[in-house]
Amino acid sequence: MTEASAHRYLIALGSNRRLPGVGRPRAVLDAAVAVLAEEGWQVEAVSRWIESRPLGPSSRRYSNGAALIAGDLEPCEALKSLQAIEQVFGRERRGQRWRSRTLDLDIVLWSGGAWHSRDLAIPHPAFRERRFVLGPAAQIAPHWRDPVTRLTVRQLSRRAEARA
Ligand code: ADP
Ligand code: MG
Repeated sequence: MTEASAHRYLIALGSNRRLPGVGRPRAVLDAAVAVLAEEGWQVEAVSRWIESRPLGPSSRRYSNGAALIAGDLEPCEALKSLQAIEQVFGRERRGQRWRSRTLDLDIVLWSGGAWHSRDLAIPHPAFRERRFVLGPAAQIAPHWRDPVTRLTVRQLSRRAEARA
């Protein structure tokens, strides 16, 4: 008998670097989804990947997307799991914040609502302004309500598009 997972997360995925043996950023995201499943996450939905312009001085294009994952890890442990997967893809955490990166995995929303600890803030503090997060997220979780603004992901996405 399978039991329902204790926790569900909407995560944002981003990559802007080719990885030898894997390929272009969108192939990195495909590979990341496979590793999430290997690590025990139930991958319930995956958005299409979109291409967006870089945020900082890096000239590389990003591929971005979103996924719904479920599992038994509570938020801090979930973040550690995602960071371990980032490491598998060779992301460097030293130095410049906006450096080119192979894989970025962020927790956007959590089924338990809001979470605040030293290393983790849920909802992700910047997601309401990021169209490259909200667009993909609205494909897979349009009705999920942000516990802070009480707006749904679809409403937040439309608001961000209207402001752009
Ligand atoms: P960013 O994702 O903003 O480009 P990083 O991936 O380098 O930057 O994350 C920096 C730190 O942000 C991480 O070490 C992590 O502790 C913290 N953090 C806070 N809230 C979150 C969240 N919701 N999802 C992922 N990381 C978060
Ligand atoms: Mg991150």
